Amino acid sequence: MNYRELLKDKKRIVVKIGSASLTNPNTNCLNLGKMEILVRILTDLRGQGKDVVLVTSGAIAVGRKALGLKERPTERSVKQACAAVGQARLMMLYQKLFAEYSQIAAQILMTKYTMINEISRMNAQNTFHELFQMGVIPIVNENDTVSTDELEFGDNDTLSAIVTALVGGDLLILLSDIDGLYTDDPHQNKDAKLITFVPEINDKLNAMAKSSTNHLGTGGMVTKISAAKIATASGADMVIANGNDVHHIDDIIKGKEVGTLFTANKNTDFNILDYIKTKQYPS
Ligand code: GLU
Repeated sequence: MNYRELLKDKKRIVVKIGSASLTNPNTNCLNLGKMEILVRILTDLRGQGKDVVLVTSGAIAVGRKALGLKERPTERSVKQACAAVGQARLMMLYQKLFAEYSQIAAQILMTKYTMINEISRMNAQNTFHELFQMGVIPIVNENDTVSTDELEFGDNDTLSAIVTALVGGDLLILLSDIDGLYTDDPHQNKDAKLITFVPEINDKLNAMAKSSTNHLGTGGMVTKISAAKIATASGADMVIANGNDVHHIDDIIKGKEVGTLFTANKNTDFNILDYIKTKQYPS
């Protein structure tokens, strides 16, 4: 069976883009050209009748730029102040770009509490479903301004996998600063090979996922594998691809062999709430 071909028929797609993919590396300014293409591609997917969710980082990076802070802040209150400034700016831009294509977009900000509390979780789920019915594209980020250590997801790789499980998505695309999962860290080992297909997440694979954090975002390969465990256990396929070119989204949906595909492995015992409370990944 050609698993890539099956991606053409996905009905509910969650796309996650990280700060490193959204900003110019030298200046930390948002890459507006890329954002515009991203918005056009997502609007086109919506136009094909698919439900689309965008999980976007960038709140802290955009706020930091607006406030003129040179370094990525480490103090919580400074990070949260940056997020408060940056999230509004980020949404202003997304709204403007989506409006150009007459596509309505919405903002959903989540914390772990949204998931842990049953009423909040059901409300969030109902809101997503109502937005899908209305043809709206929800734009999701963590509510960094109010989340505390105990109540934060921490990285948007995990958040996007949880959102995929919450909305019953059948495909999660993680746009990263790397082409996909490699046999070794490609920055250190030139013989490292890209793995294009992962039918099962086993110990060998876990060992390969060396953390490759960068200064803009928070997720490394380890968080991506954790996201894959959540997404695939919830019944979705997941692709990690390079966010340097957002056309990769189109290529993936056309069935082209881009990035690393993890195939769905629905685990009926998997309970998203248990995972969030215990951080025990589905096995
Ligand atoms: N929520 C954070 C932000 O918008 C980013 C988290 C991440 O990059 O994974 O800045």
